[in-house]
Amino acid sequence: MIEDKNPQRTSIDQLGEFGLIDHLTQKFEITQDSTVKGIGDDAAVLDFGTRKTLVSTDLLIEGVHFDLAYMPLKHLGYKAVVVNLSDICAMNAKPTQITVSVAVSNRFPLEALEELYDGIARAAQEYKVDVVGGDTTSSQKGMIISITALGEADENEIVYRNGATATDLLVVTGDIGAAYMGLQVLEREKQVFQVNPNSQPDLDAYTYLIERQLKPEARTDVRTLLHALEIKPTAMIDVSDGISSEIMHLCKQSKVGCNLYEDKLPLDPQLISVCEEFNIDSTTIAINGGEDYELLFTIPITDFDKIKGNPNFTIIGHMTEANEGIHLVTRANTKIELKARGWNAFKE
Ligand SMILES: [Mg+2]
Repeated sequence: MIEDKNPQRTSIDQLGEFGLIDHLTQKFEITQDSTVKGIGDDAAVLDFGTRKTLVSTDLLIEGVHFDLAYMPLKHLGYKAVVVNLSDICAMNAKPTQITVSVAVSNRFPLEALEELYDGIARAAQEYKVDVVGGDTTSSQKGMIISITALGEADENEIVYRNGATATDLLVVTGDIGAAYMGLQVLEREKQVFQVNPNSQPDLDAYTYLIERQLKPEARTDVRTLLHALEIKPTAMIDVSDGISSEIMHLCKQSKVGCNLYEDKLPLDPQLISVCEEFNIDSTTIAINGGEDYELLFTIPITDFDKIKGNPNFTIIGHMTEANEGIHLVTRANTKIELKARGWNAFKE
């Protein structure tokens, strides 16, 4: 449904490996003081001075992590960067550089790689990170993307997953569940398109959900917002697999329990109406859907006044002693044990 009718197709072989890398990386600019040397030598040189360096890496495989039937390559490039930056944000650090490695089969012409790199360049520009290295090579089948993100923070700024205490409040940024429902809408349209390739999808009612799925953003702003409020989270994680699974990670590593309140979950009105249309329970989607790339964190209860009523943050629960377990407290005030049903790369 996103196919270009008259695409130009330049074979990648025409450029040769080095020509290809030069061609694809020419638009990347260096903006970070910590980048001493970017692309163009055998290795990049970075200097973080007295600050700590954070590193996070991620591998995306066509058919496992993305479907090019409804994921435009430009969006894929953008999203591949964002998901990595999100992991640096989840440490309360500032993303500064990325490396990008891509393998493609000969089914992809140069123009496809250009689209992908346009999306990568767009994200790098948007988030002011330097692309300082990477590789482009061929694969037997499909597309594989690996991005490594680097970031910096003062040692005392860094927030780990293991610092929550039994009296802390649980807070999430933005809203949750929309990216997963966006994927459900796109899957449905793909099936309609397969039956009738001439069908014109009307996606007006789903724009927010689809945008959350195809063009998520990393919450690089949260670090600054929290700093201004004089709040340092005790534990933090980003919402990639769904908050249910992320809460389990925080609880396990911090050795605490949790009560999550159903009526506190921040849901976009569009998510609620589309869940009704699909006849799916919106709470199930909100806690198990993934890919929102919001931040989930705990703060001391004494910081309650600093954060209450702030539109960027929602208090959705509180931590407990580990032996009290991990529960969802429903609107009917019943306690249901929370299970991690988040997305798992090794399932199916
Ligand atoms: Mg993460």
